[in-house]
Amino acid sequence: MAIHRLPEYLINRLKAGEIVERPASLLKELLENSLDAWADEIIITINDGGKNLISVQDNGTGIELSDMDLLFERYATSKINGEQDLYNLQSYGFRGEALASIAEVSKTSVISKTTYAEIGSKLTKVGSELILKHQPVGFEHGTIVTVEDLFYNVPARLKFLKSSQTEFFYCYNYFVDVALYHHDKHFVFKKNEKIVFDLPPTDDIFTRIQDVFKKDRSANLKDITYQDENISLTGLVSDAQLRFWSAEHTRIYVNSRPIQDKIIKKALMDAYHRQISPGEYPFALLMIESTPGMVDVNVHPRKLEVKFADPGKMYDIIFHTVQKTLGENKVASVWIWQIWEGAERSEKGFSFQSSTINPQPSTFNFQLSTDVLQTSRNFDHDETPEFRNQEIGNYKIVGQAWNSYIVLQSDEAIYYIDQHALAERIAFEKMKRNIADKTGLKSEVVLQPITVEMHSIPNIQDKIDQLNALWFDCGLLSENKIVIYAIPQIFMIYKVDIEELFNHILYLPQISYDHILDKIFASKACKISIKAGDKLSYQEMQHLVQEGFTAIPWMFVCQHWRSFFVKIDKKDVDKLFDR
Ligand code: ADP
Ligand code: MG
Repeated sequence: MAIHRLPEYLINRLKAGEIVERPASLLKELLENSLDAWADEIIITINDGGKNLISVQDNGTGIELSDMDLLFERYATSKINGEQDLYNLQSYGFRGEALASIAEVSKTSVISKTTYAEIGSKLTKVGSELILKHQPVGFEHGTIVTVEDLFYNVPARLKFLKSSQTEFFYCYNYFVDVALYHHDKHFVFKKNEKIVFDLPPTDDIFTRIQDVFKKDRSANLKDITYQDENISLTGLVSDAQLRFWSAEHTRIYVNSRPIQDKIIKKALMDAYHRQISPGEYPFALLMIESTPGMVDVNVHPRKLEVKFADPGKMYDIIFHTVQKTLGENKVASVWIWQIWEGAERSEKGFSFQSSTINPQPSTFNFQLSTDVLQTSRNFDHDETPEFRNQEIGNYKIVGQAWNSYIVLQSDEAIYYIDQHALAERIAFEKMKRNIADKTGLKSEVVLQPITVEMHSIPNIQDKIDQLNALWFDCGLLSENKIVIYAIPQIFMIYKVDIEELFNHILYLPQISYDHILDKIFASKACKISIKAGDKLSYQEMQHLVQEGFTAIPWMFVCQHWRSFFVKIDKKDVDKLFDR
């Protein structure tokens, strides 16, 4: 076939694939246009996950009548004039591709009015048919873009879309990105015509966070700032008490765009080293502004990624700023840390392992009192203090084997205790108690909904109803995806991996707390900070064992579930030596 130019509609359709991947990407383009038009009041409607309708109404500048008929043409933009503008971009859009692409793959209409115009105008495009007409509107100035039946003419793309609930979730997530950053603007966000958010403008980011997540998190959030001649960094990071099981709660903005960036995420996580365990993530809003030339925002068609001129420098800035902020605000843990370091120097044989210390109360952890430290300073095998317990009589801790087992000696026997299993069992027993006396049975909203994917499950709606009756708040996002908005507080306190838990309990025919606890234990869904291989100090072992005696009924007598200790009787050892 000879070389020929592709027709305009085909180019648009190809381009549309790049720009409009799914309803959330479309929402992004529309919101950016409203923000570019200086709107400070934006009303968003998402129907049927955006497949059926997305509309964005703003009170921005509006579009001149004379510009209306260019709106759906590619490379028609009001945002750049010359090459110079490309390098000094202040607006979100500039390629003039979005509306053309959107209009190619949906039924699109734009109603707009400027302050100067007498009357509004409406441009509609369905297929190749364009209609422009005057129309009175009920606002002073602004624009309403309505996109219906996305991909009605591109069935292949339509097939790629997920369920309405999932697509809605993507839209929601992007909306939250924007709403947090632009907290000075009023947003209304509707799902199937019902208001999900009505966020009044505020100059305080904490207020916006509270409005979005419906929970006051300010006690756990710390401001960060950094400034040099090229880069400024502002935002918030959570202290180690507020952490999550997914990285979704890290939001990064570069020159006011929400973006994804591996280097920044790595720097952030590295700054939390020793504060949160692997597999946990903080809440973070990192807002980076840079002078032109330091960052290229034009490397990704949807501008979801950027390229830094000096990535190493960005790493350093993020890492040091966050680390400094966490350090300053973690007085209590610094205190423990220092005492521990002192203890380490004076102890022989037992050294402090940073990963086993978790100073935050919401974790299963070991709070150290000074008198415990006092006794341990001069720890020496011969002088190991002896304790008494009604189950096993006098005992002392004689050491740790292979960094995994605590070795306990009583008058009658030696016990090898699996440190991880013991810690897990303690947490479990405490959970059981808290459920029995109802102390942990309040619903606590998770900062951001947790989504869980699973195989399709019969009677799933029934299961969800059962869970919702047990202080959960969850709903079906799609056939095989559940979204969880709130969980019983007790599972926050003991750090239960909700995703893991759901993957087990949903398969149960009936769900009760007993079942849930069984599953937590059987599936190891309780995230215990003490692992096999962690070197424990004497006082950590002592604390663990003593806590075991208080929390676990008949610790070494009747054991059910997984065994966490091995007992070797002295008389058997004696026998080996023919005594
Ligand atoms: P770009 O944003 O890259 O310029 P778009 O296709 O998104 O391209 O939009 C084309 C033009 O339409 C914009 O340059 C702007 O002039 C106008 N426009 C689009 N949406 C709005 C809006 N909500 N308010 C005012 N003008 C708008
Ligand atoms: Mg645009």
